[in-house]
Amino acid sequence: MTTIDTAHLAAMFAAIADAMSADRDRLCSLDGVIGDADHGIAMELGFSAARDAVAALDAGTTEPTTLLNTAARSFLNAVGASSGPLYATAFMRGAAVVKGKTTLDEADMVAMFQAMAKGIQDRGKAETGEKTMMDAWAPAATAAGEALAAGTGLAGSLAAAAEAAKAGAEATKAMIATKGRAARLGERSLGHMDPGAASAVTVIEAMRIALTG
Ligand code: ADP
Ligand code: MG
Ligand code: MG
Repeated sequence: MTTIDTAHLAAMFAAIADAMSADRDRLCSLDGVIGDADHGIAMELGFSAARDAVAALDAGTTEPTTLLNTAARSFLNAVGASSGPLYATAFMRGAAVVKGKTTLDEADMVAMFQAMAKGIQDRGKAETGEKTMMDAWAPAATAAGEALAAGTGLAGSLAAAAEAAKAGAEATKAMIATKGRAARLGERSLGHMDPGAASAVTVIEAMRIALTG
């Protein structure tokens, strides 16, 4: 039985921040092809800010909802790009789902994960197939729910989510962007992976490793 507490969530943000630093140049290159080449910097800045803000909280007395709202605020303040409000909304929605809980079990965690994906969808209004981070987050959220229902636990759920995100990001190569900056390119966006979908894979994989090893 998995029990996630505030310290686990703080470690998760630290792990995502590390992963974003390691992935920064690749994400900027992907964004350079169909956007404005800042996506890696935005994600590194955002998750570094979130990591620092949640690390400054008292892990002994802070509840998960407060930690996630703190992450959301600091991410939004740090990031000027479109990914700022999208991930801030994700963490705010995740915070809302776990309100009142001091520790989170695997069902709570999957509910939080699915709320994050729904938050990105509500904020950005992108459907799957529009070549955005939704093409990674939406199948990941579905896969996490299905795996949980099949009894795989949090490790299996996040593994299924990471797999689905990876396939979703890969599939964006064959899509024409109709949302975000890349939409201006129209058909010229074909053949290239969406940077936001690529970074979503990195986020989800870092969450998986940090929370379930
Ligand atoms: P910007 O385009 O402002 O420089 P980023 O480079 O940080 O922002 O992020 C670009 C990514 O944001 C895109 O690759 C795409 O995945 C995602 N994105 C853009 N618009 C939307 C939207 N409306 N809904 C979901 N994701 C979006
Ligand atoms: Mg950009
Ligand atoms: Mg930009």
